[in-house]
Amino acid sequence: MTHPESEHHRPTHLPFALTILGAGSATPTLRLHQTAQLLTIGNDYVLIDCGEGTQFRLIEQRIRPGRLRYIFISHLHGDHYFGLAPLLSSLNMAGRTEDLYLFGPRGLDEVLTTIFRVSDSRLGYKLHFQVVEPDQPAFLLDHPLMSVRSIPLQHRIDCTGYLFREKPTKPHLLREKLPDDVPIAYLKQLKDGQDILDADGQLLYAAADYTEPGPAPRSYAFCSDTRYVEELIPQLQGVDLLYHEATFLQDNAIRAAEVYHSTAEQAATIAAKAGVGRLLIGHFSSRYKQFEPFLDEARAVFPETYLAIEGQTTDI
Ligand SMILES: [Zn+2]
Ligand SMILES: [Zn+2]
Repeated sequence: MTHPESEHHRPTHLPFALTILGAGSATPTLRLHQTAQLLTIGNDYVLIDCGEGTQFRLIEQRIRPGRLRYIFISHLHGDHYFGLAPLLSSLNMAGRTEDLYLFGPRGLDEVLTTIFRVSDSRLGYKLHFQVVEPDQPAFLLDHPLMSVRSIPLQHRIDCTGYLFREKPTKPHLLREKLPDDVPIAYLKQLKDGQDILDADGQLLYAAADYTEPGPAPRSYAFCSDTRYVEELIPQLQGVDLLYHEATFLQDNAIRAAEVYHSTAEQAATIAAKAGVGRLLIGHFSSRYKQFEPFLDEARAVFPETYLAIEGQTTDI
């Protein structure tokens, strides 16, 4: 999908941040909510998974759902999307008219259509649904500020992660190095990486001398739910922030493999092998009452590991 509108003008440092709304797994507890995350990029909100009650998490975090533009659903286990129909319905009640873009597994549209049909609801905004194929990594979205790709995972049902990558920015102009009387047209050309030549084709200003590269594009990868899959490593190579599920500790590694989930040590191994910047772990099984052991286990393999903590925002 190529995004039609390009209303963004890019300042030097745009917000690119992740807020954890739910870090629990399927069994409900009062300690953790089910999976949901909010990615802020520029002026847009991107919701990643939408476990039960996500709309209440948005209210708690004072996040205005009107700015929500894209929703990515990993798979159709209820703890990852049972909050979606209520959220879409509330957006409608709030009078939304702007288009909303939804990406997720085949069948998600059927579920929503049925719910809206039997409740005789009609959305006042356009909901664009794109099926995400589970087998091959695919390019999904060309946004003015970022591109999004799918990451096939291995779970009990079709499941995909998502890779959000900022687009490279233009070089910064080093104005102080240039004489004051340089024509404005030259500045634009230099910023575009073009050298300035005089009428005889002689070099006046080399772009490389008067610009420096813009900030390196940032990236975030979301991987939940999945068993330990080494095929993920090349796709995750060098991402700045990786979220990888860690439902179990290593003493339950056999159980984890049987139910297509991962341990904290396995998540950390993926992070280490992919050379990511930081690792966030979550989707903790309700059988564990303490989360510190997850951190200890993962940090032994990959020191830059952090717990996904509900309500916390990480700048990427
Ligand atoms: Zn789950
Ligand atoms: Zn699942």
